[in-house]
Amino acid sequence: MPVDVGGRTFKTKTALENELKRISKIPSEVAQNQPFLLACVTCYSKVQDAIADVDGCLTGVTCGPNPAKAQYGTGTNVYCLQAQIKGLGEPMCMSSDYIARSVVSRASADAVRARRPVATKIEKLRDAVQPQIADFKDSARGNSWACNGCQSPLNDLIPAFRHVDHTGGYEFRHLKNEYARIHHNGDVTQIDTTAFATFHAQNARLQMLCIHCNVRKKRKAQDTYVSDNPLALARPTKPGASS
Ligand SMILES: [Zn+2]
Repeated sequence: MPVDVGGRTFKTKTALENELKRISKIPSEVAQNQPFLLACVTCYSKVQDAIADVDGCLTGVTCGPNPAKAQYGTGTNVYCLQAQIKGLGEPMCMSSDYIARSVVSRASADAVRARRPVATKIEKLRDAVQPQIADFKDSARGNSWACNGCQSPLNDLIPAFRHVDHTGGYEFRHLKNEYARIHHNGDVTQIDTTAFATFHAQNARLQMLCIHCNVRKKRKAQDTYVSDNPLALARPTKPGASS
């Protein structure tokens, strides 16, 4: 999962850690990258605790020798990033590894928090169109009551095996995304459930499927999911998997 911090994106936690390590050895880089470093370091719980302890604030990030490592290390390897905290007697040495870890865990917590309202809204939208699904099932019962895939008679099946399905280009997720795109700049959480139910009634194309055809369709959709999922393209490619 890519990591966004301080206006920059890193493919992995290790990539971020390596960049922090690189910067920490060059004082001029440390000075030039202050906004980025501050964004990273403010995620670090050790720094947050220290700030709370002294009721201070983070005034900058510098680099210097880490006394703990200086005893046995040499050269630039003993250099580390240091948090300058107002109220704290001396700069706080930080490990690039731990800073990167803190950034990643903050980023994934943010991602979970951002996803939760979307999932809740989708549940509400599904509930809102449930009466339409039930109505369709009732009306279909009166007509040719057969699976739209294999044409087998649905009367032979128990109710749980008779499924109402959105057809091809009008899957539920397409309708939901399209509505959000038209009315709310793509923000699903802003959708009004009643208004969406109307939109769904006008645009959804429903069909009856037997459980076998519906499962087969879902499995097929899963297989092609990667190719029509734009997020899949943003994922870092595995090392060695050159195209
Ligand atoms: Zn069928």
